[in-house]
Amino acid sequence: MIARQPPTLPKALRPAAVPTPVLGVLRRLSEAGHRPWLVGGVVRDLLLSRTRHDPDEFDVASPATPAEVQALFRKVIPTGIDHGTVTVVEEGARVEVTTFRGEEDYVDGRRPSRVTFHGDLDADLARRDFTVNAMAWDPLGHELRDPHGGRADLARKVIRAVGDPRERFAEDGLRPLRGVRFVSQLGFRLAPSTRDAIPGALPVVALVSRERVAEELTRLLVGPHAARGIAALSATGLLPVVLPRLAAMPAGRVRHALSVASERFAPGRGARAEDDRDRLRLLRMAALLHVLPPGEAMRAVVELRLPNRLATGVVALSGESCALDENGPPEGKGGAAGTRRWLSSVGRERAPLFLDLWRADARHQGARTATRVAEVRRFRARVLAELASGAPLSVAELALGGEDVLALLPRVSGREVGEALRFLLDEVLETPSANTKARLSARLHAWWGARAAERQGPGTS
Ligand code: ATP
Ligand code: MG
Repeated sequence: MIARQPPTLPKALRPAAVPTPVLGVLRRLSEAGHRPWLVGGVVRDLLLSRTRHDPDEFDVASPATPAEVQALFRKVIPTGIDHGTVTVVEEGARVEVTTFRGEEDYVDGRRPSRVTFHGDLDADLARRDFTVNAMAWDPLGHELRDPHGGRADLARKVIRAVGDPRERFAEDGLRPLRGVRFVSQLGFRLAPSTRDAIPGALPVVALVSRERVAEELTRLLVGPHAARGIAALSATGLLPVVLPRLAAMPAGRVRHALSVASERFAPGRGARAEDDRDRLRLLRMAALLHVLPPGEAMRAVVELRLPNRLATGVVALSGESCALDENGPPEGKGGAAGTRRWLSSVGRERAPLFLDLWRADARHQGARTATRVAEVRRFRARVLAELASGAPLSVAELALGGEDVLALLPRVSGREVGEALRFLLDEVLETPSANTKARLSARLHAWWGARAAERQGPGTS
């Protein structure tokens, strides 16, 4: 039997697009008389022909209270029970089920002071942020509920607040940040009235926790239309709230940082999608902060409470790159050995990131652009050649290790072993062919002899 499907329902909304465990949850709720709907981002993404596979991205909403949901399923986790959300565990998958809500009385511009549960889907959709996020689909009953014109806005590629944007932004300062993030993720533009409501909402945006701000900013930076998102961030006045230290720099520097961060940064070769997202996040964040003095960049990442790994990467990358406008790449300093010393200091892994950032930076140097692009290209070729040559770049790659130093030098101290290895690395960076046991042993003995002479020296003079 072919399921009856009203002709108005778009093709993307087929029950087959819903993972089996989610359909199971929907059926159970439906059989118990609580008509369930899929709501929010998943409906938006399906209508954009972006298939989703992960059951936990399918948000279910129904009039069933958390207690009623708990009674219907064997395993239910009370994830956000105050806000009406529980997580049903079905066939090993986690499915979020939320009671229809209405909200009122926002006190701190973030969290509703009172949440009301009721059986009203339309009130639930009315409290949602943007029209494209305020649609609901019932896959069992084949119905799409779209009271705010979300489909039309999807077609027009517009992010529009549900209701009066000024009121909606005054209720919750996260919404303007989500709005510009969707601009970047979807390549949409803000509806004029929605865009114009943002400047007046900035004091409310300033109340959003730094972690949430950082989360939205990083998601914006890795979006496929990040340049649009960055432009929207700047045009709406959100930038000083998101990155006050960048916004405090001279206007020309800010523009430069935004242009570099808006570069495309071609994907890493053969990288997995997640690695690519990590790389983009790091590069674009560093690009935003590379115009700050190093201490300021460090303060900016601390204030954003970025995860540790990202923070250290951004500080290293932006710090090394801030001298760039003055000096250009470290090209020509010390020839090939200089290139190897630079590689050794930044590390094999990070070097390609520096090259990507510097190439992007070079493209936005006004009158110097052509010269800089050529300089970076030459430096890049030299770096890639050194990387390909397999020349040793770290103590771990030396033909002699700590054990060997201990065996070769009687009475050497632990600290001196470290110094010895660093000395040998210096030698090998200068002359990669010196990286053999025999040659390094000879160099080591010479170094040790010279030290012994030095140690005696001051006493006799
Ligand atoms: P993504 O999962 O890609 O971030 P999403 O739209 O699913 O996109 P979620 O944060 O998962 O975003 O939120 C799910 C839904 O909840 C949204 O689609 C929207 O309808 C609603 N929503 C989320 N945050 C807010 C908010 N701050 N104000 C109003 N509604 C919101
Ligand atoms: Mg979501």
